Amino acid sequence: MSASTSESAPPLAPPMGLIAEMTHRCPLRCPYCSNPVALDRAGDELDTDTWLRVLDEAAALGVLQMHFTGGEPLARRDLPLLVRRAADAQLYTNIITSGVTLDERMMARLIEAGIDHIQLSFQDVEAANADRIGGLAGAHGRKLAAAQRIREAGLPLTANFVIHRQNIARVPAMLELAEALGASRSEIAHVQYYGWGLRNRDALLPSRAELDATTATVEAARARLKGRMVIDYVVPDYYAARPKACMSGWAQRFIHISPTGRALPCHAAESLPGFTFVSVRDVPLADIWRADPAFLRFRGTAWMPEPCQSCDRREIDWGGCRCQAFALTGDAARTDPACALSPDHAVMAAAVAARGEAPPDFVYRQFSAADPVG
Ligand code: SF4
Ligand code: SF4
Repeated sequence: MSASTSESAPPLAPPMGLIAEMTHRCPLRCPYCSNPVALDRAGDELDTDTWLRVLDEAAALGVLQMHFTGGEPLARRDLPLLVRRAADAQLYTNIITSGVTLDERMMARLIEAGIDHIQLSFQDVEAANADRIGGLAGAHGRKLAAAQRIREAGLPLTANFVIHRQNIARVPAMLELAEALGASRSEIAHVQYYGWGLRNRDALLPSRAELDATTATVEAARARLKGRMVIDYVVPDYYAARPKACMSGWAQRFIHISPTGRALPCHAAESLPGFTFVSVRDVPLADIWRADPAFLRFRGTAWMPEPCQSCDRREIDWGGCRCQAFALTGDAARTDPACALSPDHAVMAAAVAARGEAPPDFVYRQFSAADPVG
């Protein structure tokens, strides 16, 4: 802790990355999906011409990386066209995909468009459990084929495993699979408990012993694979003593755009009450980045309460996650309860204590309770 409370507005650099959530449509239904519980419908999605304009605006603003994600970004037929525009504008292009529809024809179109990198998500290494978690029979086999296509095309591959109590025992096998697939990077990321993940928390939250075993596995693999494969590791906040620097700080490095065009400081920001998020249909990207009230609300440190305001980590973790603070305390402006210094930290331990011996059934992602998928 530091006694200093001096503040200065951080210099406003351009966003490093634009995260384009192209659609909430997806052939899978993962019960931890980072999409909001209220999903956007296809008919409301941003049109191609607006996306093309936004890509040009992003390049002019100084954005370096374009991340095309979803839902399943391949559900958008115009994805190769958008990748081409981004590549022509000298943006680094990445697609984050479930891979189940990445056939040879689409792979060739993406290569021709200039794609730089593909991040492929897996639900497990055991096909039956992977398909059960994702809610789609045959999905795992199609992902393996997609991984092979990506590597045969000469693209760098990141293999992304979202882990939780129903697959965490197989982290060693996940790392072996990533290595066998020729991935240059592997992400072992615990579920984050927002949106669908929060709804399914008891079905997903691992035990402390499972987390510790996984951490030891990852550290050993990092030593073994040094120079061959980078391993990113994301731990669950519920066992943390300090929070993550969510989005590297609110509105500091990334702009997120929802399928309907709303500009957000993070993908879960629409869960926060009292905000109006403007659309890139109506407002230029540069104006949103520099002056939109929603982006200014939690940028920097001036908004922080104690204990963050006088803490020497306030420009390291930026007080943690605003959406988690709201989800667990009802107030987005409080210190993230993941921090042991937060007056609300006990809610984390209470959630762990309430975790049952056997996981309850998943509540699968769906468009609405009145319109279930499957
Ligand atoms: S987490 Fe699962 S359901 Fe959500 S977008 Fe990714 S693959 Fe689709
Ligand atoms: S959340 Fe706040 S109190 Fe906790 S370490 Fe970060 S800045 Fe300090």
